[in-house]
Amino acid sequence: MAGLPLPLAAAMLFTGAALAQAPELPESVPVPELNRSQSAQKAAPADVPVPEPRPADAPKPDQPATDTLNQQTSDQPRPEPPAIAPTPSEKPAEAEPPAAAMKPPEKPAQAPEKEIPPDPRSASVPQEKMPEEELACRRRLKSMGVDFEERKAEHDAAVGCSTPYPIALKTLGKSLDITPETELNCQMAEAAARFAANIIQPAAKAELGASLKSVGQASAFVCRPRHGTGKLSEHAFGNALDIASFTLSDGRKIDVGPAPPEKDAKFLNTVRKAACGPFKTVLGPGSDADHSLHLHLDLAPRRNGGTFCQ
Ligand SMILES: [Zn+2]
Repeated sequence: MAGLPLPLAAAMLFTGAALAQAPELPESVPVPELNRSQSAQKAAPADVPVPEPRPADAPKPDQPATDTLNQQTSDQPRPEPPAIAPTPSEKPAEAEPPAAAMKPPEKPAQAPEKEIPPDPRSASVPQEKMPEEELACRRRLKSMGVDFEERKAEHDAAVGCSTPYPIALKTLGKSLDITPETELNCQMAEAAARFAANIIQPAAKAELGASLKSVGQASAFVCRPRHGTGKLSEHAFGNALDIASFTLSDGRKIDVGPAPPEKDAKFLNTVRKAACGPFKTVLGPGSDADHSLHLHLDLAPRRNGGTFCQ
């Protein structure tokens, strides 16, 4: 609305002025010197209608703007050389891409660690009140005659280890020891106790003619730094138990090893096969060098509850 009347009014005024001072205007109006180049170009065709464009042109910020732009752009080529000087600074930047190109080779080495997302369990810290599932697990242990004590939470954010509700497992049942006593999460402790009572004990009686007195453990909760795989061991969550030997009521000791006596081997094989299921990971002699002298059992959470047994 305002735009229309103003130009019209201006046109009217200038027309009036042009009529009154027709000779003077064209000379005095030629306006800013900045516009000379353009006004020179436009001036020729604009001569006749002169009054209209010029009043509009003069106040317009456009032309000074475009002029300054043109001047700047015409000036810039000079500053640009300095802009080319930054280019050398870009070269160091270009030197970085190669460095970035250097990184990929590093990444493959670190890739396994970085690509594996941090174990969500690493963030587990004890709640103010122990969760019901933990309480229920402890009630089951007691009902099985398992002796245990509460331990304070294990948490190492740097490594990623975490066991919010560990227990010290002193026995696996009323007449079944675990030596030395060890620290596990309650679920693993319960699985070990059930496995000892339901699998190892019957196997010992069936294969070896004696009852199981004690399970010799080699490792339970251990906060280990990340290995080459970048994945934390289940031991870091108190979720794994390494069994190195079984002691019978008659004093015999069956060691886990690569070449056990035949009779022991049958017992050990029975135990090992039966472990796959109750435990989600079962490793032992023959799996790899790290497990030649013990059975590694854990409750690693896997998709679809799958197992990994070697
Ligand atoms: Zn292990």
